[in-house]
Amino acid sequence: MKIKNVTIAGTGVLGSQIAFQSAFKGFNVSIYDINDDALEKANERLIVLKGRYVEDNYGTKEEVDNAYNRISQYTDLAKAVEHADLVIEAVPELLPIKQDFYTKLSAVANEKTIFASNSSTMTPSQIVDFTDRPEKYLHLHFANEIWKLNIAEIMKHERTSDEVFETIIEFAKDIAMIPILLHKEQPGYVLNTLLVPFLKAAMQLAADGVADPKVVDKTWMISTGAPIGPFAFLDIIGPNTPYNLYKAWGDQGDELSAKVAAWIKSEYLDKDRMGTANGKGVYDYPNPAYQTPDFLK
Ligand code: NAD
Repeated sequence: MKIKNVTIAGTGVLGSQIAFQSAFKGFNVSIYDINDDALEKANERLIVLKGRYVEDNYGTKEEVDNAYNRISQYTDLAKAVEHADLVIEAVPELLPIKQDFYTKLSAVANEKTIFASNSSTMTPSQIVDFTDRPEKYLHLHFANEIWKLNIAEIMKHERTSDEVFETIIEFAKDIAMIPILLHKEQPGYVLNTLLVPFLKAAMQLAADGVADPKVVDKTWMISTGAPIGPFAFLDIIGPNTPYNLYKAWGDQGDELSAKVAAWIKSEYLDKDRMGTANGKGVYDYPNPAYQTPDFLK
């Protein structure tokens, strides 16, 4: 099967990007969100994306205008998915919301329609039973700023059919993603399975007073030849997500996590050092120290 019509459900940070990228690559796209207010916000996001694509030399003004015009908007789920070959779900990362969404979607979607979730932290098994089509359900996980960080992690579960897996691999390629195939379920996919423990180790070294953040980065960069260390990466992510994770682990009784949470709070949140988002983090932006030739001396 070849995908032609795509519906994106949930038009927030990621949903709007997936919709715009799919339209930019020539697919007919419909977007669905819960009310007119949400669609208005989606519209603002799409207009920002048009600007970003042109700024980044990813598309011409004419191409982004054409992409925008290929997107139709709905608050009625049945209408939004009427012609869909594929529904990509990017609704909030809360199980009851996903459950409610897939129950309603299953009631109105065409039999041929494939469902793919962009969930970051859930596995297909946690969601699939809310759908009426396990063989046509899988995960298709994008990274924020998908036109630049263009990987798509494609994760099957035991009952996903091989044909559906292949169809989604082709779709990912067609929207200019590099498909990363996961042949079985893995919480965190490939990227976060590697990245989360790596960043955790870096923060523990700093928060425990073993080594300064810049020394940690320097060690990683010199010894692996990588262009960026864990703390430069954390500046891109921003301190909020790590803080929330460590705070939760600390509250569950893990002492080192509590120490890391306190450190992120005092060094970053309390000093309004939010990373690249506001130009101040472990490094100052633009022109962070780790990009200067002296940094590795
Ligand atoms: P977001 O909060 O920016 O957007 C969620 C959207 O879903 C909003 O537009 C909201 O109005 C809408 N929504 C709420 N309830 C809904 C419902 N019942 N039906 C349809 N739409 C509904 O969230 P986000 O950051 O774009 O995340 C969405 C999904 O994408 C999550 O599963 C998340 O794990 C995943 N994801 C996020 C990122 C990221 O960097 N933000 C990266 C990869 C994957």
